[in-house]
Amino acid sequence: MSSKNKNTQLVSSGRKKAYTHGVVNPVVQRASTIVFDSVSELKEAAKTRGDKTLFYGRRGTTTHFALQEAITELEGGEGCALYPCGAAAISQTLLSFLKSGDHILIVDTVYEPTRDFCDKILAGLGITTTYYPPMIGADIKEYIQDNTKVLFLESPGSITMEIQDVPAMVQVAHEHQLMTILDNTYGNGLHYRPLEHGVDISIQAATKYIVGHSDVMMGVAVANKKYWPTLREHSYLLGQCTSADDAYLALRGLRTMAVRLNQHEKAAIEVAKWLEQHELVDHIRHPAFETCPGHEFFKRDFDGSNGLFSFVMKTGNQKAIDAFLDSLQHFKMGFSWGGFESLVTANLSMKGLRSQTGWEHGPVIRLHIGLENAEDLIADLQQALAIYEQHL
Ligand SMILES: *Cc1c(COP(=O)(O)O)cnc(C)c1O
Repeated sequence: MSSKNKNTQLVSSGRKKAYTHGVVNPVVQRASTIVFDSVSELKEAAKTRGDKTLFYGRRGTTTHFALQEAITELEGGEGCALYPCGAAAISQTLLSFLKSGDHILIVDTVYEPTRDFCDKILAGLGITTTYYPPMIGADIKEYIQDNTKVLFLESPGSITMEIQDVPAMVQVAHEHQLMTILDNTYGNGLHYRPLEHGVDISIQAATKYIVGHSDVMMGVAVANKKYWPTLREHSYLLGQCTSADDAYLALRGLRTMAVRLNQHEKAAIEVAKWLEQHELVDHIRHPAFETCPGHEFFKRDFDGSNGLFSFVMKTGNQKAIDAFLDSLQHFKMGFSWGGFESLVTANLSMKGLRSQTGWEHGPVIRLHIGLENAEDLIADLQQALAIYEQHL
């Protein structure tokens, strides 16, 4: 399977006849109870406890198996657990492997709810967290304690987009028997496959590019051979499952992910290049641009970029930011990203979002470039930046 082109794989994966019953897409199989006709049938099903066979609804149905197979193939792992959202995939994966007294290392540029989960929930369970600077590389060694269990990475980092030297860090982690987990929502499996770089578990908010249409919440975690049996069993015990309808929509989104990403990537680079020339803009935080910390690791390890990037203003204030946001027509204010629509968020500073890394620059504006025409988006930004300037 691995010899297949990734685009071809996105179209063909998870389409066994057992799942599709001979049509193109898998049947939406909604179920709680699975019924067995005989003791021997029940015993047979109990042997694998729902590993790609029907056992009980929480273990999934053929619709889920189709999606799980497709995502496992995409990321290149042993198996894929499904969660009701990306935040659940992160929290439940961590809970599946940690116990009281353990210590974890989390990148300082982590997605904010991941930080809050560590500080507000793991701390209460007696699990301590140290945040490390995103560009630390092999020096992560200095942060490892006797009770450190997990190295958690997110690359690029949230909002400020630093790309980590994953292979160097994973090597140190494994020398110290740490498990490694990476939030790969940006890398999406087509552009970056963490397991190929030695990471043990790759997590994605499928809510973003896999679903691609802003209409389903879902999380996925793909584990290697070593960690898959525990991840699978513990996710089940933690009660993690998704509806067959959502699994169907996620799989449908996956089929067109490559073409959508191509368009997002092209338009985002066009918009970012325009912004780079703008007199109010200090620099661009887009992994494909040299001004992005870790750009060299992006060039080395990634196969492409997407619609998400940030730009840093030379100066600013909250009034200018608010006027800028209010004047945008195509860019809507909203959380999340990865859908067909353009979005914008802005931070006057990174205070409160970082504990180890300072921020010596101006305001950060993050864009998600949707599938609209890039020239329309540039015109929108042009008029909004003029309004920004009026408030300086
Ligand atoms: C959105 C996001 C999540 C959380 O996903 P939800 O499905 O919204 O819970 C996790 N990590 C990253 C990097 C994200 O962008």
